[in-house]
Amino acid sequence: MATSTYKLANFETFQNTINNTLTPIPRTRRGINPNTETELPEVPISAQEDVDNAVAAAQAAFPSWSNLSQDERAEYLSKFADAIDANQAGFAKLLGEECGKPPQGVGIELFLVTHQIRETVKIKLGEEVVEDSAERSIVQRYVPMGVGVGIVPWNFPMLLATIKLTSALLAGNTFILKPSPFSPYTALKLGEVGAQVFPKGVLNVLSGEEDLGPMLTAHPGVAKVSFTGSIATGKKVMQACAATLKRVSLELGGNDAAIILPDADLAVTVPKVATLSFFHTGQLCVAIKRIYVHSSIYDAFLAAFTSFVSTLKIGNASDPEATLGPIQNKMQYEKLLDMHSEISKQGLKVALGADLSTDKKGFFLPPTVIDNPPDDARIVTEEQFGPIIPLLKWTDEEDVLRRANDSLMGLGGSVWGKDVKNAERVSRRLEAGIVWVNSHAETGPQVAWGGHKNSGMGVESGLEGLKGWCNAQAVWVSK
Ligand code: NAD
Repeated sequence: MATSTYKLANFETFQNTINNTLTPIPRTRRGINPNTETELPEVPISAQEDVDNAVAAAQAAFPSWSNLSQDERAEYLSKFADAIDANQAGFAKLLGEECGKPPQGVGIELFLVTHQIRETVKIKLGEEVVEDSAERSIVQRYVPMGVGVGIVPWNFPMLLATIKLTSALLAGNTFILKPSPFSPYTALKLGEVGAQVFPKGVLNVLSGEEDLGPMLTAHPGVAKVSFTGSIATGKKVMQACAATLKRVSLELGGNDAAIILPDADLAVTVPKVATLSFFHTGQLCVAIKRIYVHSSIYDAFLAAFTSFVSTLKIGNASDPEATLGPIQNKMQYEKLLDMHSEISKQGLKVALGADLSTDKKGFFLPPTVIDNPPDDARIVTEEQFGPIIPLLKWTDEEDVLRRANDSLMGLGGSVWGKDVKNAERVSRRLEAGIVWVNSHAETGPQVAWGGHKNSGMGVESGLEGLKGWCNAQAVWVSK
């Protein structure tokens, strides 16, 4: 609940939080508002000295923080959720500006942030008695590692940061958050709000340029790096962590398939599948990215799908009716334009699309639907991470499973049909870390989240996610 106990953060100036102190930094840069292409306020460019100071502060805070009981740490985290709620209006405006989310998307992310904290603190690490005999006892327990680092991307800057820091801190680690240079603003404010709640050095936030991630992954004082981002960067992070044998977990890209069975109820299925393909303008790791529709219902599905998608409103961060916002940054926008140009070069059939040339400011792209492209088209094999979706025809169950699984990625996947048992049977054969029946992209603090194959290593959330922030320790006592 929002309370007036917490000071409202100032949402106009932005500094690193190190040891609960807002630290002025001589070098600064500015992010770009994707709604308008105008500059946002200055943010720090952290240097090696700032990294060293943050690591030293987190190391100094570790002994007393890790000595608290889990319940005491949970109490601090619950207060952190209250302090975020107290600053909700400021966060909402800022998230819209830095990320290009219309208010509907902002509301969902903000809800998930505090929900993640309040539900995660209910999970208990506990100790497991493996043996208790006349000769000895053996107890399996989980102990924190030390200083944790969270490196996050730009699509859900608050939620992805919160998932990492909540489990890390609850398990007894101290933490340094590094947001993407494309979206550092809400993360820096999370640090500032956290400084009102946590003991010194427990939560530190640093913004910077592309050299900041490597400075953190190389630092010998860091025990674990939890990374969310692209597969290419994930490989670099793992390589850098190997030098000091840091623990590492990777949440990487996906190319999620949705399989529509012949008995799917189109009136219910089409709006859901369309919404989950274009949620946050497709910039979601578990957005539906390939839709395999049974040939007996393909034409009807395609017609209903394009008709529904054409009703989705595109708008900026101040448009409460908008479902689709802009692409978050110019780099991703240009990557998507390149994908569009390949679609026309290859002569793929566009079932829904619009003219891309516009003199309006902002990185906006119209939703585009591609009608049955070949399996080797880029739009099928690559993660698009934007508002373009291919629909593909299938006839044979074994064959569609082979096609859905024919990817180096394996994050999520879904199966849609009226016969739920049958749909679940098919879903269990998808090579993915999270599978859904008649749904997609649902997530919750109570259960592990992570990809198979190149989509990741390790998990976040749930008890397994909490254990991921610990070293296992076996205690043998001879009686
Ligand atoms: P990215 O890999 O470019 O950047 C992610 C983060 O890594 C940023 O903070 C960046 O500054 C940092 N970074 C860059 N180079 C680094 C290096 N050498 N060492 C350490 N850190 C470095 O990814 P992005 O474009 O920001 O994010 C989009 C990708 O993230 C998509 O592929 C998406 O699917 C994936 N993603 C995955 C999940 C998941 O849960 N699996 C969730 C959200 C996004």
